[in-house]
Amino acid sequence: MKPIDLRSDTVTLPTPAMKQTMFDAPVGDDVHGDDPSVTTLQDETAAYFGHEAGLFCPSGTMTNQIAIKCHTSAPGSVICHELSHVYKYEVGGIAFNSGMSVNLVRGTTGLLTAQDVLDQLHDTEDVHKCPSQLVVLENTSNKGGGCCYDLKTLEEIREVCDQHNLKLHLDGARVFNALVSRGYSARDMGQYFDSISICFSKGMGAPVGSVLVGKKDFIHRAQWLRKLFGGGMRQAGYLAAAANYALHNHVERMQEDHSRAKAIEKTLSELDAVVKILPVETNIIIFQLQDYTNSKDFLAKLGELGVLAAPFGKQMVRFVTHLDFDDAQLECLLVALKQVDAMYKKEMV
Ligand SMILES: *Cc1c(COP(=O)(O)O)cnc(C)c1O
Repeated sequence: MKPIDLRSDTVTLPTPAMKQTMFDAPVGDDVHGDDPSVTTLQDETAAYFGHEAGLFCPSGTMTNQIAIKCHTSAPGSVICHELSHVYKYEVGGIAFNSGMSVNLVRGTTGLLTAQDVLDQLHDTEDVHKCPSQLVVLENTSNKGGGCCYDLKTLEEIREVCDQHNLKLHLDGARVFNALVSRGYSARDMGQYFDSISICFSKGMGAPVGSVLVGKKDFIHRAQWLRKLFGGGMRQAGYLAAAANYALHNHVERMQEDHSRAKAIEKTLSELDAVVKILPVETNIIIFQLQDYTNSKDFLAKLGELGVLAAPFGKQMVRFVTHLDFDDAQLECLLVALKQVDAMYKKEMV
């Protein structure tokens, strides 16, 4: 039987209808700007978030890194969370690509408040300090267990950015999960940001690709940086068509991923081997194991029962629900979790 794969929402395969859309996509050479499917995706994604223009890139790391470089100029510093993807999982790109320093907000949720931004802000009058230029938020927060911002917090952070001449970028790798979970429109969220990185290869189910949205002149400059980073693609319309299919067909359905995640949370809360679960809001479930075991052992036991998941540190495990995880698999998973708990009880007698 094929394993139940909850390692990430990146593991999804294109659906038959998505594949057909890809086959049928009109394409051209996008480096020359004449791939109609890429242009459509860029325009429609930008309009969806209330922004002027978009740029299709191979990955979310690239859209984030291009945005950071576009918004900053060394010497300067970026305010972000210590758990954020841009800081932790982009190979130190903030320093390597943009020559920027970071001011990290500490905490367990991965979310920032306006006060956090004020606390990390570098005084531009002091010649010793590295001037703050950019704030990066992540919504949903991956390491924070998929938790989301409310619009009021975003509005307050925007205000601080305006008062202190800071740009505001959103790492929206899972922004659709945040929108669906909170019932916000993309425009309501989009209005607070100078730029947003949107991933289509995560919960949206497309095979490849992210779109960066922002103002026209910002995206114009971003085109140069995409070429510089080696991300200019030719007949990329086959990929863009998959992403555009997801934009039109895979947003609302995310509610299913979220309710399956809640069902997993409930079962986990009944297991002896689990000490703590981060509150589940979207499609990510992060939990901590008892000291008598660890993530390696727990995942080995689950693996024997046909379930794959990601270790998130020595005592922590992450599950991510997605398009290719259905109710039948959910039932199997819940049984497997109870079986693993029973194995520990047997080991301990
Ligand atoms: C996955 C992810 C990205 C981008 O990752 P790529 O694999 O480069 O597309 C960015 N931010 C967050 C929070 C992510 O989870």
